[in-house]
Amino acid sequence: MGNDFRRKTDTLPTCMNCGSVLYGGFCSHCGQKSTEEITLQRWGSELRRRVLHLEDPWLRTAIELTRSPGKMIRGYLRGRRLPYVGPLAYSVATATLLAVSLLWWSFDLSSPITPWGSQRAAEPSPPTFAFACFSMLWVSALVAWLQRSLFRQARYNVTQTWVFDLYVFGHLAILQTIFAGLGAFASNVGLVALAAALILGLTTALGSFYRRPLWTTLPAALILGTVYIAGIFTSAALFRKLI
Ligand SMILES: [Zn+2]
Repeated sequence: MGNDFRRKTDTLPTCMNCGSVLYGGFCSHCGQKSTEEITLQRWGSELRRRVLHLEDPWLRTAIELTRSPGKMIRGYLRGRRLPYVGPLAYSVATATLLAVSLLWWSFDLSSPITPWGSQRAAEPSPPTFAFACFSMLWVSALVAWLQRSLFRQARYNVTQTWVFDLYVFGHLAILQTIFAGLGAFASNVGLVALAAALILGLTTALGSFYRRPLWTTLPAALILGTVYIAGIFTSAALFRKLI
């Protein structure tokens, strides 16, 4: 056991990562949690604790984004970071979920009102779909820039607004995954219902974040939602032309 730092001192516990002496549950030098031997019981109780007490950052982020998106994101921007997954990680994970579920379960995506219509031959290739899902990252930056000018008096800068958009569009990707599973991408009615759900989700999130009544954020949600969807399709179309 060459790198067993516990051997350095006989009396004081030390960090198993960097070897500093530990005062409390976390290393004051590198931040690693004081480690314990791995056993199945410990894993079991850790999992129970995380799920029942919402200590898992993924679960907590997803639940709070559903319950009160504005409060959660404002808290994150003010500096309450530890309980949550970061905006980039959250949106990459949900984009992956959407891309994998679309490709893996090969959901029917043949609605006539999509750019490729009902002709399966004209349907974009799997890499294009995956690219479209991940386009969320940069298209949301464009939306953030626009949103910043629509809500200028709120005093959030473009990057802070982008944090909001990464969380919200990331969270809405979960909604898209559920709708895709229910077959929404195969019919016009399904796609219209999905679009309505997305606009409603965005309206609610904007109202909650800027503390405004929903009727005032609906026009902004319509503009931003349209730019977002157009951005995703344009991004995918450009990618398709390039490869
Ligand atoms: Zn350490």
